[in-house]
Amino acid sequence: MYPCRWRQLGLLIGFLFCGATAYSQRLIQRAETVPAADQWLQPGDRLQVRVQAQPGCQATFFGGKPLLELDPRQAKGQRGVYQGTYVVQPGDTLLSRPITVEVMAPDSTRDTATTRNTVRFLTPDVPQLAVTKGTLAYLNYGLGEDRLGGAKLGYLDSLVVLHLTGRVGNLYRVQLAATQTAWVPQEVVRLLPPGGFIPSSLTGSWSVYGDSLYDYVQVPLDARLPYRSQLLTEPTRLVVDVFGATSNTNWITQRDGLQALGDVHYEQTAPDVFRLVLQLRHEQAWGYRIGYKGNTLAIKIKRPPEKLRLRGLTVAVDAGHGGTNVGATGATGAHEKDITLAIAQRLRQELTQRGAHVVMTRETETTVDNGDRVLRLRQLNPDLLVSIHVNSTGSPSVQGTSTYYRYLAFRPLSVALYEAMRRTGLKGFGNVGSFNFGLNGPTEYPNALVETAFISNAEDEKRLIDPQFQQQVAEQLTKGVEEFLRRTRQRGIRGWLSKKAAEQ
Ligand SMILES: [Zn+2]
Repeated sequence: MYPCRWRQLGLLIGFLFCGATAYSQRLIQRAETVPAADQWLQPGDRLQVRVQAQPGCQATFFGGKPLLELDPRQAKGQRGVYQGTYVVQPGDTLLSRPITVEVMAPDSTRDTATTRNTVRFLTPDVPQLAVTKGTLAYLNYGLGEDRLGGAKLGYLDSLVVLHLTGRVGNLYRVQLAATQTAWVPQEVVRLLPPGGFIPSSLTGSWSVYGDSLYDYVQVPLDARLPYRSQLLTEPTRLVVDVFGATSNTNWITQRDGLQALGDVHYEQTAPDVFRLVLQLRHEQAWGYRIGYKGNTLAIKIKRPPEKLRLRGLTVAVDAGHGGTNVGATGATGAHEKDITLAIAQRLRQELTQRGAHVVMTRETETTVDNGDRVLRLRQLNPDLLVSIHVNSTGSPSVQGTSTYYRYLAFRPLSVALYEAMRRTGLKGFGNVGSFNFGLNGPTEYPNALVETAFISNAEDEKRLIDPQFQQQVAEQLTKGVEEFLRRTRQRGIRGWLSKKAAEQ
């Protein structure tokens, strides 16, 4: 916290007289970088420093750059708050060091301090690269954090090469394209030694084909570049941006066997952003997976189940929380983990009775991490997923049921489940989109989260712990899934194929 000479002096004086004597003379109470986190900055980025010190002093940082004392009205009424900004210049070097600030009082006494956090200036001449690791790497839009983590831009396959141009705390800034950045958590990447080139590639000619299970689009690249994807509606389409890629796609061969894919084409939306636009034939998209085979970008499109009915359908049921993760607790002492499991087991029974094949993320009172659930679901490859939770809030008057989706294309499932839940007599809390919940993250199959009711509300809790009500919820959710399938059948296939398909 304090520079060495001050600490030594303090210790010395403290030993001889009294520690308080030395420290009471300090002019600086606190010095910090803003944000208060270890940072990597590149030329053009701002190094911001804030100091709390005795008012009316002269203050500098980083070797003489001025810190200005704020008017107390700009500093929540506090006096002695000094701030300074330095724009990192090309050629500046700094190797993960704290920032030193210096304050001089009107009587010329001086004090120095260093920030707790360190700053490193990156050298653009030596690009800092990293590769994604593990099976659930992802990018965030920004530095936001909440209960669910920062808003996610999307998931990435492993060994995707990223160009890092900054860092704040445990997030690295990724330069996706000249005008586009994202943030990646430290724990999902491995830094590469210096000497690599910033990843870029020309795109090869695509291969578009189908086999007995899926439709595929494959685009040869020279490197595993980052990408983002969006499954959009009206018209139903999958849009994939590949960053650092420039078109040299001179033909797109569309072979036999395609069922889900309609017209496919590309746009070069920026010199370093290559966009695939993959139109889907069915009004209801059924999911997809993007990854790499070597350096070839491989997109696998899932087709809607052949027979859109419960019989023969693989339905995943997720009972939220479990084991040491109890979830929310009600006034009666009821635990979310027990209610979700009870409803999930009843739902399994209802679905099974109608001929569905049900897979569960947990069947007993055990702890299962959400990441492990997503990975297990990847293996189980369900046709759709219903995740069951119980809501809770600090306001005991808030009540009602709600359902959640993340991707627009999967909204219809959550709407059908919401309508079904309302039929139990619960009040409506709403249908919520862009929801950053782990089990709404998979793109491989339609999925929805059901927050059955509020355990923090006495009336809702009473119903949640009632086995008859749990049974009612299970029956209604089953009807909700059936209704989703019925609507999907009705919406059918777009374009010239639609009439034919409807007749069948
Ligand atoms: Zn929960």
